Amino acid sequence: MTDQAKVPGPQGPGAPAPALVIAGLGKRYGGVQAVDGISLELAPGERMGVIGPNGAGKTTLFKMIAGDVRPTAGTVEILGRDVTRMGAARRARLGVGRTFQVSNLFRDMSVLDNVRVAARGGTAKARVFWRTQGMTDDVTRRALEQLEAVGLTARQDDTVADLSHGEQRQLEIAMALVGEPAILLLDEPAAGLSAVERTTLRGLIEDLPRTLPILLIEHDMTLALGLTDRVMCMENGRHVVTGTPDEVRENEKVKEIYLGRRDKK
Ligand code: ATP
Repeated sequence: MTDQAKVPGPQGPGAPAPALVIAGLGKRYGGVQAVDGISLELAPGERMGVIGPNGAGKTTLFKMIAGDVRPTAGTVEILGRDVTRMGAARRARLGVGRTFQVSNLFRDMSVLDNVRVAARGGTAKARVFWRTQGMTDDVTRRALEQLEAVGLTARQDDTVADLSHGEQRQLEIAMALVGEPAILLLDEPAAGLSAVERTTLRGLIEDLPRTLPILLIEHDMTLALGLTDRVMCMENGRHVVTGTPDEVRENEKVKEIYLGRRDKK
């Protein structure tokens, strides 16, 4: 178990760059230090979870990695490139795929069209022009492949507004994957889902390609520990511990944080 989340395994010349390196990352909102000096490395193909109670700073950390929020301290490197000053769109072009805590779906469009828009770089602008620009066979083929991968083939012609919450999460993952990301960031994917929907989502994430590095921010400790190779626990913006799921599960501070509080999950 480590104090900060360094990548185990080969390093040095010739070793592939870590998928993600954050160093001393911090964010202050006025008097609130939302994230305080977090460092973390995600190895190629590694799946890592970030857990912590309400207000731990998980979402702020995620937003700094995705490029939604500018840090007040520290750096973010993705695939060996310093992206600290880049916005979310540029990071996406570098291969960052992500899901959103608040749904980013086009609710009045069909399931298939949502994935087709995402395949073409699904920005608001793309949405405006999508009808006038012909969808190529390749875009449709890739979109259908991803819908099959997340188990939504039967819903492809339905409107997003008619999907369950769980199906909307599945769709968001299809939209993140269709851009063939080099790293996938999942922002509390299980939030608001029923037990059955969580089980479906868990199976879907488990079945993602093992070569794809994944950072999973998740309040639900059971889900995060069941899906990842390593887990970092945060509290009050600070690093608590990083280790294997078993090490984190058995950690006294983590037990106190999750079991000794009213907001446990
Ligand atoms: P939750 O599980 O409840 O989503 P979290 O671990 O994601 O919590 P954050 O949402 O990152 O935690 O919040 C960390 C702290 O930063 C909290 O005290 C929160 O009130 C504060 N905070 C987050 N965003 C802002 C903001 N835009 N302005 C001011 N304070 C903020």
